[in-house]
Amino acid sequence: MKPAPFDYFGAGGLEDAMAALSGGAAKPMAGNQSLGPMLNLRLARPAALVDVSLLPELRGVEEGPDWVRLGAAVTHAEIEDGEVPDPTPGWLQAVAANIAYRAVRNRGTLGGSLAHADPAADWCVVMTGLGAMALLDGPEGPRRVAVERFLTGPFATDLRGGEILTAVEVPLPGEGARWGYWKFMRQVGEFAKASAAVLVDPGTGRVRCVLGALGRQPLLLGDPQAIVDGRVEPAEAVRAALPERAAADLALHVTALARALAEACGGAA
Ligand SMILES: Cc1cc2nc3c(=O)[nH]c(=O)nc-3n(C[C@H](O)[C@H](O)[C@H](O)COP(=O)(O)OP(=O)(O)OC[C@H]3O[C@@H](n4cnc5c(N)ncnc54)[C@H](O)[C@@H]3O)c2cc1C
Repeated sequence: MKPAPFDYFGAGGLEDAMAALSGGAAKPMAGNQSLGPMLNLRLARPAALVDVSLLPELRGVEEGPDWVRLGAAVTHAEIEDGEVPDPTPGWLQAVAANIAYRAVRNRGTLGGSLAHADPAADWCVVMTGLGAMALLDGPEGPRRVAVERFLTGPFATDLRGGEILTAVEVPLPGEGARWGYWKFMRQVGEFAKASAAVLVDPGTGRVRCVLGALGRQPLLLGDPQAIVDGRVEPAEAVRAALPERAAADLALHVTALARALAEACGGAA
């Protein structure tokens, strides 16, 4: 199908883009890898698209004492290729390299992925697992929201009218931090059927276990230290977090968590 007619606005700067979005009839467009299909299927019919993919304010990278801010319009391929600093010791590069196909990665952006909030998207799970912050700007001024609160449901976020996701602030892992990420997909280029991320960071005291591809926003599991220590088995933790779901529906998620744990902490899964 073809999209319904729309106007295209190639914004020169963030202020320009925010002004163009202020009426509510326009939508931001980044890599167009998720929005494009929605336009073609006429699931989205904005009167105008505001292209944010080349905005200098969204293309930059800033390094702080204990974080790196990746501009929202940084592409998956740029992360994969190490063209922007990876705040982790290679964890982000490995994730980026396994998103879809290279053609999608060349255009698709970190910010577009989070703003689209597909329940199975890699960055949604990974940025939740890393305790990253979403940096937003809009009519009410700039604000920062933890990614786990930014993602409010399947394809739903805390983005308010006219707001733009400008950057993602990733905390630097401390000394000796360990990480595991596992996703099941039927074939390369497909979205995950189940995924999990595990962060164990003794330097900063952060321990996080996250499940993804659940048809809802990523789920942070309670008492992750007990899961990492082996006092609570992955199956027990997953079932306790999702008691309403049948055990058979959770089997892949249990295995994804066990494998992410094994990657982070060693041992077989
Ligand atoms: C064949 C195929 C396979 C894929 N497989 C995977 C996969 O395995 N894993 C995975 O994670 N993803 C996958 N994707 C999705 C891909 O990663 C997309 O790049 C991503 O979801 C959307 O990013 P984008 O930059 O293209 O955003 P767009 O498509 O341009 O926009 C998506 C949404 O976000 C909004 N938006 C974009 N940027 C901003 C911003 N800065 N501020 C506010 N709102 C914004 C848009 O208005 C729109 O609603 C796949 C896509 C395709 C086409």
